Amino acid sequence: MLFICRAVDEDAVRERIHARVPTPHGAVVCRVGDRLLVHVPDGRSVAAEVLHDSGLVQQVLDDHSDAPLTDRAAAPLGSLVRLGGQATVGGVDFALIAGPCAVESAEQMAASARLAKDGGAVALRGGAYKPRSSVYSFQGLGEEGLRIMAEAGRAAGLPVVTEVLDPATVDLVAEHADVLQVGTRNAQNFSLLKAVGRAGRPVLLKRGFGCTVGEWLQAAEYVLAAGNPDVVLCERGIRTFEPATRFTLDLGAVAVVKHRSHLPVIVDPSHGVGHRHLVKPMALAAAAAGADGLLVDIHPDPAAALCDADQALDRERWFDLAGAVRDVLTGLGRGLAISQPEPATGPATGPATGPAPEPAGRAR
Ligand code: PEP
Ligand code: MN
Repeated sequence: MLFICRAVDEDAVRERIHARVPTPHGAVVCRVGDRLLVHVPDGRSVAAEVLHDSGLVQQVLDDHSDAPLTDRAAAPLGSLVRLGGQATVGGVDFALIAGPCAVESAEQMAASARLAKDGGAVALRGGAYKPRSSVYSFQGLGEEGLRIMAEAGRAAGLPVVTEVLDPATVDLVAEHADVLQVGTRNAQNFSLLKAVGRAGRPVLLKRGFGCTVGEWLQAAEYVLAAGNPDVVLCERGIRTFEPATRFTLDLGAVAVVKHRSHLPVIVDPSHGVGHRHLVKPMALAAAAAGADGLLVDIHPDPAAALCDADQALDRERWFDLAGAVRDVLTGLGRGLAISQPEPATGPATGPATGPAPEPAGRAR
């Protein structure tokens, strides 16, 4: 049973519940915008009775979902997730998040941050801990990569999104990153989901490539049930019989999730298709399908990328994609989210080189 209360009554609601109901059999409380969601697994429990009698409840929803906190009924207007600074995902504006697959060096990250920003990204991505199929592939720079990434983001005025691979490094990653990414291979690592739920950072949750939409939402529920409402879902392709693309980007899932959940959903066309010439068409399709944003692999020198080189976009392709996405959004009465001005200290590197098309994110 889901009880919807006002967020301003949070202390009173928690007091009522905690005074009477011993955890862990009690209620799960999660604040989503101006709402306080209280889920009581067994509707007839003491917690339910206590709440019913409190006068603090605005609405009661029967359990009709196995991921009730993520259900659209819990927040019908949709939720907005703040990534860091002014960057948000889930509003009317469409958020571009871009960067290399992996953090390789300070120079590469500084150039990538410039590139991301110049193309209109509101956040910088990059992996310091890489989940590689082969143990012999580049595994990422680890803690040093986190520091490099944080500095590149700070210099460009962009919040940073980076993957966390295991519960043991959640606190370390949260120290350096604005957003914690849970990758497709960890999408049902329930210990990790609980840990990122407690980390006090927004979470970008990839869909497991073998997960149904329902399982994906249940994974998100783990994070919300730990008290963290700031989850951005990311469709990145599922495993099918089709080898022409690296995975099969399931854009139908975007429409389903927008219908079933209040959480924002973005699309990662890069990992979905695996080949750079296919990234743009799927990015446009994602925008048309109603996604809230994109996660795109870009690289200042794709041929030299240490990870996923085939799918990384160079400057020209990235600007072209961003401009075309903007055009699709215009047709839908939407626009690109605009990144914030750079901090007064300015970027760590010199001006970006190469052709400089019109900055995609600033034209609206
Ligand atoms: C990534 O975004 O770098 C990544 C590893 O993605 P996924 O978990 O979707 O494979
Ligand atoms: Mn990758």
